[in-house]
Amino acid sequence: MKIIMLGAPGAGKGTQAQMICDKYNIPHISTGDLFRSNIKNGTELGKKAKEYMDKGQLVPDELTVELLLDRVANEDCKDGYVLDGFPRTIPQADVLDKELTKLSDKIDFAIDVEVPDENIVRRMSGRRACLKCGATYHIEHIPPKQEGICDRCGSELVQRDDDKPETVQNRLSVYHEQTQPLIEYYNSKNILKTVDGTKDMNDVFEDIVKILG
Ligand code: ADP
Ligand code: ADP
Ligand code: ZN
Repeated sequence: MKIIMLGAPGAGKGTQAQMICDKYNIPHISTGDLFRSNIKNGTELGKKAKEYMDKGQLVPDELTVELLLDRVANEDCKDGYVLDGFPRTIPQADVLDKELTKLSDKIDFAIDVEVPDENIVRRMSGRRACLKCGATYHIEHIPPKQEGICDRCGSELVQRDDDKPETVQNRLSVYHEQTQPLIEYYNSKNILKTVDGTKDMNDVFEDIVKILG
């Protein structure tokens, strides 16, 4: 099963993607996590990506598409995957579509996690992330068992540089301009499913499981 998570930054894509991947035993592929691990390791790609990420802008398609296509070509992706944060532009979606068509393959579902902008800034300011395994927490809604420590891998949790309110506003406008058109794109391919992301995370997940079967 191949799934795309759509939704604004902070809508809960990563949280739901992780739950889907645990249940269906497929890899969670987050381009944001791939960029953050490149930044952490000081690679050339990481240096280039950071300039855009810090401003809340999208990393150019040329850098992003290659990274993603390399990742999904891995052996562990052959039975499916969840894409979290990719595609974020129509050209990215077109490249993915072309690559899959070459392999006589396709995306099964694009799940749009809907959360109004008003809720987003609050969610982002409380978000804490594990840069090692990609897990995310919320200091009020979804706290880790031990403050500041990742439940999954024991690493230290951090607040992301781009989760400051000024950057979040910019990311939201970038989302509306460049990423939201993908909702209509996947709707016209008849694979769009919408869930109410304002519910409790377990209720959102229940709605997703009903869709996936
Ligand atoms: P969020 O979890 O808030 O949606 P991500 O971790 O997915 O954020 O992405 C963080 C940043 O990484 C984005 O603001 C953007 O700069 C960059 N990024 C991630 N995925 C993509 C992509 N598919 N295309 C372009 N830039 C991306
Ligand atoms: P995205 O990947 O879309 O940027 P995340 O999954 O990282 O979003 O979630 C953003 C923040 O909101 C995190 O702090 C996360 O713990 C929290 N969160 C996720 N889902 C919910 C929910 N259903 N209710 C409240 N907070 C949530
Ligand atoms: Zn972790």
